[in-house]
Amino acid sequence: MFLSRLAESVEPYTAGEQIGEGYVKLNTNENPYPPSPRAAKTLRESDASRLRLYPQPNADGLRRAIAQAEGVDEENVFCANGSDEALALCFPAFFDEDGKGACFADVTYSFYPVFASFFRIPTVVVPVKEDYSIDLAAMAKADCGGYFIANPNAPTSLGIGRAQIEAFVASVDKLVILDEAYMDFFGESCAALTKRYANLLVVKTFSKSYSLAGMRCGYAIGQSGLIEGLRRMRDCFNSYPVDAVCQAVCAAAVSDRSYHDETVRLVVSERERLKTALRSRGLWVADSASNFLFVRFSETGGKYIYESLKAKKILVRFWDKPKLSEFCRITVGTPSQNEALLEALDTILR
Ligand code: PMP
Repeated sequence: MFLSRLAESVEPYTAGEQIGEGYVKLNTNENPYPPSPRAAKTLRESDASRLRLYPQPNADGLRRAIAQAEGVDEENVFCANGSDEALALCFPAFFDEDGKGACFADVTYSFYPVFASFFRIPTVVVPVKEDYSIDLAAMAKADCGGYFIANPNAPTSLGIGRAQIEAFVASVDKLVILDEAYMDFFGESCAALTKRYANLLVVKTFSKSYSLAGMRCGYAIGQSGLIEGLRRMRDCFNSYPVDAVCQAVCAAAVSDRSYHDETVRLVVSERERLKTALRSRGLWVADSASNFLFVRFSETGGKYIYESLKAKKILVRFWDKPKLSEFCRITVGTPSQNEALLEALDTILR
């Protein structure tokens, strides 16, 4: 059938369902609020005739805007088509097929093992602790070539404070790639620490706190040698991964700090309310540092809850995997979406 052995054998990532209308969509950790009005205006006013030109390969204006927001220099920012792309490029940029491998937790973002197998990079998988937190002490001892740490972690929602991450980065002489996709809901970003630590690369996204998942834009922050490595890999693949409209819209969004911060505040306050409401129903809910909740349904299992909620037009995420089969991951929605979820759960659990 013309396929390579790789295409035949690789196990691709399964993205959450994107079925639209008529569903309360709490399954892919999108932001329930719209993007910044400044970003919307930039999109409306974008000039189609300019699209005959290729975009700037390095997204210069956007990098400037990101650098300002993150308190770093422009040359320390790399933009990509979603943070997934930045994370993917890290594997060939910083790991060798015959090297010691990429180390990550057994319960973490499930794209890491997919990237590793695609790029044929060995992996060193470290179990999370009993309480589902990442075992940094065990990771520090692992015989590996570098680390991927999602902070806050997915799907567990748990965050690790800046001081603890800094101590880890300072104690290992290997590259630490920190995936901060959900960090704005926690407020312990290590982006500025990249100035001090040559072995730290921080990856962030416009998909969550900026409400721009549909734009597909993410970025990495690190010292110039790391950024150069990512650029070399990008230019073996696609020199223009961030389109012109996306560059302008994301630059507008990142410069609208007050809108961003207010949206984050709304999500965080709803997260706390929803967590309390679920706990009051006797459910175990992790102390989330993100925009979603990791909820244990020990009696029914996650799949039953997923299916029952879907029948009521509410989408959440579950996994048929060891350590995760009792859980659902529920994105924090608007107050009315969260009410609909609670009401449906009350019926199902009864
Ligand atoms: N990292 C983590 C931990 C995520 O959950 C996601 C979202 N699926 C991403 C990175 C990728 O986000 P995006 O490609 O939309 O920037």
